Amino acid sequence: MMQDKKAIAVIGSTGSIGRQTLDVISQHEDKFSVEVLTANSQADLLVEQALRFNPNCVVIADKSLYPKVRDALSDTYIKVFAGSESIDDAVQMESVDVVVTAIVGFAGLSPTVKAIRKGKIIALSNKETLVVAGEHITALAAQYNVPILPIDSEHSAIFQSINGEYCNKIKRIYLTASGGPFRTKTQSELEKVSVREALNHPNWSMGKKVSVDSASLMNKGLEMIEARWLFGVSPSQIEAVIHPQSVIHSMVEFEDGCLKAQLGIADMRLPIQYALTYPQRMTNNSEPFDIYKYGSLTFEQPNRRLFPCLDLAYRAIEHGGNMPAILNAANEVAVNAFIKGYIRFVDIPYVIEKSLSDFHFIQNPLLDDLFETDDTVRRTLENKITELTK
Ligand code: MG
Repeated sequence: MMQDKKAIAVIGSTGSIGRQTLDVISQHEDKFSVEVLTANSQADLLVEQALRFNPNCVVIADKSLYPKVRDALSDTYIKVFAGSESIDDAVQMESVDVVVTAIVGFAGLSPTVKAIRKGKIIALSNKETLVVAGEHITALAAQYNVPILPIDSEHSAIFQSINGEYCNKIKRIYLTASGGPFRTKTQSELEKVSVREALNHPNWSMGKKVSVDSASLMNKGLEMIEARWLFGVSPSQIEAVIHPQSVIHSMVEFEDGCLKAQLGIADMRLPIQYALTYPQRMTNNSEPFDIYKYGSLTFEQPNRRLFPCLDLAYRAIEHGGNMPAILNAANEVAVNAFIKGYIRFVDIPYVIEKSLSDFHFIQNPLLDDLFETDDTVRRTLENKITELTK
């Protein structure tokens, strides 16, 4: 029966999605085995996960932590590697069936490309991969006949809503957003918000990067680009709608005017499980959905003036080329600088807007050009921010 188990590589296993992926796997150990675990710098948790799930190998991206992980696992058969290039190697292993891209940011791109080229199924959590290189990734996935199964809750909802629709065209996608912790703030209040407030999301428990992105609505902008590539629709067919209850995870409108939506509790383990068990559904220990708990479901348009990141994402994808890569790198640097207390929350869209006009535009970038764009934007902005803080 062993060969019936799906062998999973979880890249970014110590982050929020990685930990929840392992929770899903632990509920279905007859269906899944863990083949690879990788972490950036949380060595202790990586070791703990390795001892619990007994993977073939683990990778710690931060090379300085290699001796610590190696020593802690020296009594086991688990192979230990270090460095981000080892993540690329690990996902290509013969024994891996599915790669869960739970890693955060641009770092997800390279292992995803490598995994697709080896025919691995991608359970995609890392939205930045499609934001930066959606055209390349979708073409590559088609070439290698590799399914990309979304883990992002909105995209899982869309994926579930178009299931069985075969050739029926999508008229419009309503990408729902909770509105984040600052939905009801004024401009002057927004100028003073703290990092702690930004990280305090009302409905979802998430990592730092995606929490700040949710607060600025950049998360919805990135998800719009992600949806554009996953579902082959134009950006103008995708509408972000504020739905503070986070019960409807997204909706699809068809040409006859009918809409399909997917509803559920705000628990990332559900879309993770669906991506891993698709097309099957399975029981789990998540809290049951109680429709009576939610008196009403409301919808409103986002405040685009207060949250300019959303329009910046539309601008980037409409220009195309390497513009979304510039947007993504500028956002990653700006969010990181905000978390470290170097810039204000309202400076994030300013940094991004300036980057979209300043950096060199390439209309038809090769994959290598996108890596170079990311590197240039990142280095330039990081230097500027370091100057600012001196
Ligand atoms: Mg999402």
